[in-house]
Amino acid sequence: MLFTKLGLDPQIVRAVRDEGYETPTPIQAKAIPAIIEGRDLIGCAQTGTGKTAAFALPLLNRLRAGARGRLRALILTPTRELAQQVAEFVKVYGRHLHQRSAAIYGGVGYGPQESALRRGVDILVATPGRLLDHMGRGNVNFKNLEVLILDEADRMLDMGFIRDVRRIIKAIPARRQTLLFSATMPDEIRRLSKEILCDPISVEVAPRRAAPAQGVRQALLPVTTARKRDLLAHLVENEAKGQTLVFTRTKHGANKLARHLERRGHGVAVLHGNRSQAQRTRALDAFKKKRARVMVATDIAGRGIDVDGITHVVNYDLPQVPEDYVHRIGRTARAGATGDALSLVCPEDRKLVRAIESLIGCSIERRSVLDFAVGADAPPQSPAGNGRRFQKRSGSGQGGQRPAKRRSFGTRSKQNTGSGKVLPSPKVVSGWRGRASRRRAV
Ligand code: AMP
Repeated sequence: MLFTKLGLDPQIVRAVRDEGYETPTPIQAKAIPAIIEGRDLIGCAQTGTGKTAAFALPLLNRLRAGARGRLRALILTPTRELAQQVAEFVKVYGRHLHQRSAAIYGGVGYGPQESALRRGVDILVATPGRLLDHMGRGNVNFKNLEVLILDEADRMLDMGFIRDVRRIIKAIPARRQTLLFSATMPDEIRRLSKEILCDPISVEVAPRRAAPAQGVRQALLPVTTARKRDLLAHLVENEAKGQTLVFTRTKHGANKLARHLERRGHGVAVLHGNRSQAQRTRALDAFKKKRARVMVATDIAGRGIDVDGITHVVNYDLPQVPEDYVHRIGRTARAGATGDALSLVCPEDRKLVRAIESLIGCSIERRSVLDFAVGADAPPQSPAGNGRRFQKRSGSGQGGQRPAKRRSFGTRSKQNTGSGKVLPSPKVVSGWRGRASRRRAV
């Protein structure tokens, strides 16, 4: 399958080529023609498999004709960081067209957002809270809205957001195209989604309702609560030596853990909802640009964030909601790469582990880290001094799936910077990788 066969405008195909994409990913190949036809759609595919382009490309295609600056499409995301990122992708994919887009999210001043809205945009990417504020101030006119997209749709329709989303939906035209995308889609959310969709087509690429990305090697590391911090430091110093994203349950926990790692000499970025937007932006930027090797974050960083080259995700605390596990570990192994997801588990986490394993449909490898594994879930300690720090526990079900051959949706032959400059191919060219050029392009 080629992008040219999907019915997209040649200028859009040119933009994805600029990005180094050669062939559509499976979700793109299936969703784009249906969206171009005008169908409402629920799109479900693993993390990091190109869902943003799956909705952004046909959206740009639809809006390429007609008057400019009339606010014809609204994309809602659960976090500010994701709103920024999606808006960035929309600009990149639309770089040869003349549509205007803007991102609207909280934590920053209203002034620039109001000016952008006053000038007129075709596509608005927004978090619900700030959008409602702008609606309250009379800054948005939805009269011409044709398309509504919920990115991370199951999160947008869950308890935390549903009231805001309902208020927004009430304010937009009922006659519209509605698209929902996520890597996880629990049944109750699917049922609820019927309220806002009209005769939707369901496009599923994941083998199950919540399948982790194929290239993620998962492991559970049993440990007692008292020794978690030391185990994390041990991992960061001995195993997780690349870009490492650590998830904690609470903001306070994230701060404490970051201080602990900093005292041990590690460069740490911290991302959570109690930080100012300027601090959040700086933290993510430091992590993306590899000035900080470790980022400690709450679930705010769990959804959608696309950072190139995260080699390890560590669940310092397991998430309370099993779907969040799939999203968190999906921050690694993106765009056909591989990565490791290590979860520290205490005996009291047993129920959460069961819920996660039942959601993903297989058991996760238990791996004991010598000197740290204690407790009911821990495997028997091996004699010390055998030279191996990590041991597999036998009899742990299917064991850690090590699928991870790089999937190939084509081979990139060159990188175009978007400024007309063609760079030599990177060393690794197999697989559908295209991010390096995007980062330079924006
Ligand atoms: P997403 O799931 O939308 O966050 O995309 C994950 C990553 O895959 C991003 O870095 C995209 O640039 C990249 N990507 C998306 N579509 C393709 C494609 N068809 N070929 C190569 N890379 C892609």
